[in-house]
Parts: sequence; structure tokens; C-alpha cells
Amino acid sequence: MAIIVKKFGGTSVGSVELIRGIAKRLARDYHRGDQLVLVVSAMAKTTDNLFNLAYEITRHPSRRELDMLLTAGERISMSLLSLSLMEEGITSISFTGSQSGIITDNHHGNAKILKVNAFRIHEELAKEKVVIVAGFQGVSTAKEITTLGRGGSDTSAVALACYLGAEKCEIYTDVDGVYTADPRIVPKAGFIKEIGYANMLALAYSGSKVLHPRAVEFACKYQVPVEVKSSFTFAPGT
Ligand code: ADP
Ligand code: ASP
Ligand code: MG
Repeated sequence: MAIIVKKFGGTSVGSVELIRGIAKRLARDYHRGDQLVLVVSAMAKTTDNLFNLAYEITRHPSRRELDMLLTAGERISMSLLSLSLMEEGITSISFTGSQSGIITDNHHGNAKILKVNAFRIHEELAKEKVVIVAGFQGVSTAKEITTLGRGGSDTSAVALACYLGAEKCEIYTDVDGVYTADPRIVPKAGFIKEIGYANMLALAYSGSKVLHPRAVEFACKYQVPVEVKSSFTFAPGT
């Protein structure tokens, strides 16, 4: 049975209604027999709002405490998605980055994933559960909670796909794939059906936030196929 990792970004899980809709779609995939590992971002604007709360208190927040605060966003969406799947009759379990075994360096706010000790995920998949992982976070070698940099849930998803030996990593977002330029800024930008790792890396480094650069680096290193697609239509993407 193939493991498929599916990541849902902030806009895609921006309301309870959207989360319910995703759970209904996923119920169909689950019944097709794939082992599903889902990675979620925080609900739209949540991470920004958490940042603002900290900066209301101090202009120089401790990086450690900021990471403790920011990682709360993904806890909300992971548990709401898990509850929604349970409503669809699917057994699921949500894990923080730390519970998922995502080990990072000690660089608070922009930590690098060093490895994934995914045994808890494998145990739960073996029980036919859908596993939901909080994106954007891990635990450092110094046993502290870390975040992976803004947009870092993409990296959580691709890194998990690499370490789990997944067949594929699907990045569900608010556009239907990768374009030659940001389609919100350049309406005539062309849709790219297929793109190699090197070209995607160049796009990511040039600031196109559709994929986090470190996610592309992981995908290239481990040769994991990644598909960027719409969370609203689930139609084939890039
Ligand atoms: P998510 O919350 O799902 O991670 P992001 O906002 O991080 O979504 O990334 C998706 C956004 O990336 C799109 O809404 C789009 O405006 C922007 N974007 C920038 N460059 C590109 C590009 N070349 N192709 C597609 N989308 C792009
Ligand atoms: N929630 C985090 C952010 O807003 C991570 C992500 O969305 O990928 O940057
Ligand atoms: Mg993003």
C-alpha cells in the first residue's frame, strides 16, 4: 500500500467549512486504500495574529518563546481536521512536529530539519489511521520546539514524504498549480504542467512562495515527486 503525503496550506484550512470540505474529499481517497499522512498549516492569518500578540508585549521577543507561541497555530488546524475526519467515519490521529519525530537544528525561527524519526507515524498507519501532522515545526537536538521559517509547512510535508518513502507529496493550495509568475500579480502568467527540480528551485529562491525553497531541496535530494494543486477543486496541478 502506497503512502501519500498531502499538505494543506493556510487559506485552504481557513475556516471550519473548508476543513469539513477537505475531510469529505479525503474520505474518498482513504476508501481507495492509500495510507494518508496529512500536513496542515495554521488557519489563514493565525500565524500573523500570533506574531502580533507577541509584538504587543515586546519589540524583542525571545526566539524560543516565539516558537512556542507560533506552533500553536498548527495545533488548531490539525485537531479540527482530525475531528472532521472522525465525523466522516475515518479513524485519525493528529501529532505535533515533535510527536511526529521531526528533529531540527537549534536555529529558532528558521530551523533546518535534520532527520525524521517517523516510527509513531508508521505505527498509526499500520492501525489504518490517517495521520495528521502539524506543519512548520519540529523539536531541536536541544529538545526545544522550533519553527521552520514562514511557509515552512511545505518543507514539513516534503521531508516527511522523503523519510516515509512516500510515493508522492501533494501540496494543496489556493492556486491550481505553478505558473511562470505569481498569477495574482501577473494575470497572463502561464500555467506550468511539469517543472524540474532545478527550475522549481530557481523559482522558489526568486521569492515565489508557492513552494518553500527547502521543500524543493528535499524533493530534489530524495527524488520525491511533488504535485502542487488546488485544494478547492483537487484537479490535477503541476
Ligand atoms: P499556502 O498557504 O497554501 O502555503 P501560499 O500563499 O504560501 O499558500 O502560496 C500560494 C501562493 O503563491 C498563491 O496564492 C500565489 O499568489 C503565490 N505564488 C507566487 N508565485 C507563484 C507562482 N509562480 N505560481 C503559483 N503561485 C505563485
Ligand atoms: N503557518 C506558517 C506560516 O504562516 C507555516 C506555513 O503556512 O507554511 O508561515
Ligand atoms: Mg505556503
